[in-house]
Amino acid sequence: MLEIVTFASKNPGTNLLVLGAVHGNEICGPKAIRHIIGRFNAGELTVAAGSVTFVPVCNPRAYEENKRFIEHNLNRAFKRREQPTLYEHHLMNELAPLLESCDVLLDIHSYTAGGPAFAFRGLDELRDREEPFIAALDVDHVIYGWGEAYAASGVVKDPVESMGTTEYAREHGAIATTVECGQHLDPAGVPVAIRAIEGALAHCGLVPELARVQDNKLRRTRIKKLFYKQRAGSFAKPWKHLDEMKQGEVVATFDDGEAIIAPFTGRIVLPNATCPVGQEWFYLGVDE
Ligand SMILES: [Zn+2]
Repeated sequence: MLEIVTFASKNPGTNLLVLGAVHGNEICGPKAIRHIIGRFNAGELTVAAGSVTFVPVCNPRAYEENKRFIEHNLNRAFKRREQPTLYEHHLMNELAPLLESCDVLLDIHSYTAGGPAFAFRGLDELRDREEPFIAALDVDHVIYGWGEAYAASGVVKDPVESMGTTEYAREHGAIATTVECGQHLDPAGVPVAIRAIEGALAHCGLVPELARVQDNKLRRTRIKKLFYKQRAGSFAKPWKHLDEMKQGEVVATFDDGEAIIAPFTGRIVLPNATCPVGQEWFYLGVDE
């Protein structure tokens, strides 16, 4: 059973859902969420309208074992499972009703390579719906095009594979974003996550006194291409997230000697130097 904590007002309003540790080795979400829950419990914060539901740890076993997942990536092929066979299927069945009923979803993550915090938004038609929310989170970089690049990669057999928590919540009408708060172990990720939750509570009208002055100048990067680690290999240099790379530059080399050459000038997105074979190694994107 997942730990689920809700604070609600009698006044109608937005139902906000905040998730942590969808990936078990991403610890800034649980820390930030527990900090905010503590402030509600202490009476420092109260909900003026609507409700907020927190799930500090969405994948408890992976969290205990400090792993991304146990048997199945909880953020891929997300759906209700009538016949759950894997550990994460049971978690999906617990999380699905929350994702289906929320109006706004904030899903807090971190990533492997060092670099700045950013948020993912959905398709271009969702830009005007999701970017004001992202700006309120105090995150100044938005990345998008993930789903399209994922689908175009050719390695994905089942289209439902690209369905994560945000995609599932959007399908059920929510405004949704994933905030990536920096490197997994960077202590600066926790305050980033706390500010994001505070911003969400204010933006949704739940705790208006948390509202703050924002500049809405978002930097934007579109993911154009996903690279799977099809076989053993390594990066040409210790890439950091959003490092610039030039067309023709060697990004990585397979152990058999074949090089991956950057097909255009842009940025490397979420490079994962310790990626196992058969998973997402890195993405290439361009600024817009
Ligand atoms: Zn993650």
